[in-house]
Amino acid sequence: MHEIIELGHFVGGRSVPGTSGDSAPVFNPSTGVQTGAVSLASVDEVDHAVATAHAAWQQWRHSSIAARTKAMFNLRNLVDRHASELAAKITAEHGKVHSDAMGEVARGLENVEFACNIGEMLKGMHSNQVSSGVDVTTVRRPLGVVAGITPFNFPAMVPLWMIPNALGCGNTFILKPSEKDPTSALFLAELIHEAGFPDGVFNVVNGDKTAVDRILDHPDIKAVSFVGSTPIAQYIHRTASENGKRVQALGGAKNHMLVLPDADIGLAADAAVSAAFGSAGERCMAISVVVAVGDAADPLVEAIAERTRTLTIGDGMDPSSEMGPLVTREARDRVAAYVAAGADAGATVVLDGRDAQFDGDGYFLGCSLLDDVTPDMSVYRDEVFGPLLGVVRVPTFDDAMKLLDDNPYGNGTAIFTRDGGAARQFCEEAPVGMVGVNVPIPVPVAYHSFGGWKDSIFSDTAMYGPEGVRFYTKPQAITTRWPDPSTSTVDLGFPRND
Ligand code: NAD
Repeated sequence: MHEIIELGHFVGGRSVPGTSGDSAPVFNPSTGVQTGAVSLASVDEVDHAVATAHAAWQQWRHSSIAARTKAMFNLRNLVDRHASELAAKITAEHGKVHSDAMGEVARGLENVEFACNIGEMLKGMHSNQVSSGVDVTTVRRPLGVVAGITPFNFPAMVPLWMIPNALGCGNTFILKPSEKDPTSALFLAELIHEAGFPDGVFNVVNGDKTAVDRILDHPDIKAVSFVGSTPIAQYIHRTASENGKRVQALGGAKNHMLVLPDADIGLAADAAVSAAFGSAGERCMAISVVVAVGDAADPLVEAIAERTRTLTIGDGMDPSSEMGPLVTREARDRVAAYVAAGADAGATVVLDGRDAQFDGDGYFLGCSLLDDVTPDMSVYRDEVFGPLLGVVRVPTFDDAMKLLDDNPYGNGTAIFTRDGGAARQFCEEAPVGMVGVNVPIPVPVAYHSFGGWKDSIFSDTAMYGPEGVRFYTKPQAITTRWPDPSTSTVDLGFPRND
């Protein structure tokens, strides 16, 4: 019998057990063993967390930038010091290999580092003498209590896209992590507490739709950041907007990688395999479609197959593993069903991940490579979110661009070529938020911002970086004058600037 850890919430600077009586199982995907039971918050529990965050905001909003910066630096050092431990917690519940989880932590940490410089971002604007003796200053004010609702596939990095800027700007935070892998968020809460953020400034409420829906309609939550699948992103955006909240909701993806005939085929194949099968394809920036233009197709498919065959799939804590399991049994079975559907629809199955054999009860699936995929196939249309790479063959660059135009998603894309003109045209015309030139996973650094286009985002602002600071603040313009009382008169005219 394995020990099952009760995972509650983190509210007011401490861990608190769930009281709703509802919980969901948490599994180690490498073994299929249940390791935890995560509490699913009731409306009352969400309300208590929001009240705690709201009370904390009354002080935190007036905290000095120096105090916030000091806590942020402490957090930076704590996350760095505990990176391997945090990565192990990610691996234990998500399944991705530990080295990949270390990469997730590193990319999350970038956002803490960005927020260490929050004073620079909050400097505002000042105009001197806009009229005689009149000055105007615009400052950016925090919103109040803000919430983040995050997906399973980056249980540390995606929360860290949100938390540092939100807190650095003077807000307090409620995080509702994925119920599939909540431990990383609870660990982050401990580190944030240890870093010196006051009690109640950062809170974790675990839960399902009940908790999310209460977040969406709680009057004291002023903004909601969401990352997850497109249907839920649409729901979050619509509901939170109707309830008068500021909202940014990032959705799913179907990322295409174009390979032109002049590309270095070995380089492109390395990139395609890394970007398609890293984290078992469970990345919103994973490459799921390779678009092989003209003569590139035959050598490219062969090179991708050759590299994929040698990948080592196994327990994420085994240093020899390059790819781990899927997050759940259902996810594994869903991806396997897409391989079957692709084959039935006429795709050529070059590699069938269902053939791979694994010991034990982990949610492992081998890598699949499907050639001759066409846009009408479900394996092309849907976000599969697993180790399945489809190859679409097209005769020309223009045909490849039409695929991008017609696709409802616009998260990431990449081109592999040695032709600078073609690459430039690609950047100019791709209807996609994040574009890579010979870079398969173009996740921007933390001092830029992350966001797709089309059905990959429902929001005017992208996430983190400068856009994140704008999202978590509202401008206030202050007009000041210190007149000589002896010159003062009554004037009913609209104020003019002279
Ligand atoms: P998901 O949409 O199932 O869940 C995301 C969050 O929403 C979770 O916290 C979950 O508890 C909550 N949720 C789920 N169903 C809900 C409902 N009916 N009502 C209210 N809340 C609900 O996504 P997931 O499976 O955890 O994550 C994978 C998805 O996230 C993929 O589609 C992936 O592309 C996307 N993703 C996008 C980005 C991006 O930046 N665009 C980044 C990471 C992941």
